[in-house]
Amino acid sequence: MADTRYDCIVLGTGGVGSAALYHHARRGVRVLGLDQFPPGHDQGSSHGDSRIIRLAYFEHPDYIPLLRRAFELWRELEEQADTRLLLDSHVLNLGPAEGEVITGLKAAASAHDLNIEPLSSAEVTRRFPSIRMAADQQAILDPNAGILKVEDCIRTYVSLAKRAGASLVVGSPVLSWRAVAQGIEVATQQDTYVCEKLVITPGAWASSLLPAIAQHFTIVRKALFWFDGDTSDFRLGDYPVVLSERAGDTFYAIPRMDAKGVKISNHSGGRECTAPERLDRTLDTTELEAASLFARHHLPSVGPQLNHHTTCMYTMSPDGHFLVGAYPGQANVYLAAGLSGHGFKFASVLGEILADLSTDGVTRHPIEFLNPLRFGGTNR
Ligand SMILES: Cc1cc2nc3c(=O)[nH]c(=O)nc-3n(C[C@H](O)[C@H](O)[C@H](O)COP(=O)(O)OP(=O)(O)OC[C@H]3O[C@@H](n4cnc5c(N)ncnc54)[C@H](O)[C@@H]3O)c2cc1C
Repeated sequence: MADTRYDCIVLGTGGVGSAALYHHARRGVRVLGLDQFPPGHDQGSSHGDSRIIRLAYFEHPDYIPLLRRAFELWRELEEQADTRLLLDSHVLNLGPAEGEVITGLKAAASAHDLNIEPLSSAEVTRRFPSIRMAADQQAILDPNAGILKVEDCIRTYVSLAKRAGASLVVGSPVLSWRAVAQGIEVATQQDTYVCEKLVITPGAWASSLLPAIAQHFTIVRKALFWFDGDTSDFRLGDYPVVLSERAGDTFYAIPRMDAKGVKISNHSGGRECTAPERLDRTLDTTELEAASLFARHHLPSVGPQLNHHTTCMYTMSPDGHFLVGAYPGQANVYLAAGLSGHGFKFASVLGEILADLSTDGVTRHPIEFLNPLRFGGTNR
């Protein structure tokens, strides 16, 4: 019969959960990871080859200390596994002078004394001949950035966690969890487990697994498009990631990493989806046209041929910032949820934070701004 008692269960071994599993196992915690899908699957929010990591964080300067540690931990993971997971790159940020991206970048850089490089339009053309910026945009290059190989990161974390003693059960969805006399009971389709500490990293399934705060989460559908594998000269290493705010939309392009081509997506907007199981995964020609238009404006050597597309989900919180900490109203349960479409780069440090919380009850990392109670409610 399978073991059913653990010090800790990590519910959801996607982006953040795989890192949490690893950090628990490394500390000698008897930990079990549970997921409905195998590591590196394409049904949640952590697939599509690549995720951007960047230090000059326009979203909020308070993320920067976490980002510094995230970079360190990704490098540590590469060393442990003896494999490349974080490919060096720069990010070229484009946007109106008063827009969210340019003002946020300047605020973050000045608050944390970061090295960023404002570029004139002529400098952009000289250094990156395949990139065009609009007349009403400014350009700032962030040299402290890179691309994470998203599925490889997850598989690596899970594999090193297992090597350090973690158990993993996949293919059996968790149906419910509740406090019982012996700890926290977690029921899957096949078995029931009991643990002292429960860490919930649910991605787009947040509303069903975190009922006390379910109202804070909105799922948004995201489309990813890969254009022109063979003809574009827009290659990672030669070219930076481009992130462009324009006319209310923020698109990004990740240079070609392989034959699939240049990846383009709209970071803003997107259709709401009522539940992950009901995600419409079909190609939306209006979204494709918008991505093609972005390429025509900024990257004329890219497209129009579409090589590949997929869909993914953002789980938005009310203010676009993460919820990380203790689960309201239930001792010994911790969560990282509502990552709002920018969480993967932090998976390494969030895994460490969740292991701190579940083993020591506290973390040295500054996460007060991510408190799950900031939208109301109490811990009782
Ligand atoms: C298109 C797209 C582009 C993005 N680009 C970037 C980027 O460039 N940089 C960046 O930092 N972030 C980016 N993000 C955001 C980032 O990818 C996500 O915030 C992050 O990967 C989410 O990780 P997670 O662990 O919360 O969710 P997931 O990785 O989806 O993991 C949740 C896991 O929980 C499991 N689970 C849920 N419910 C159950 C259940 N009942 N039983 C068993 N298992 C369950 C799921 O199967 C899943 O494996 C992007 C997201 C998308 C969609």
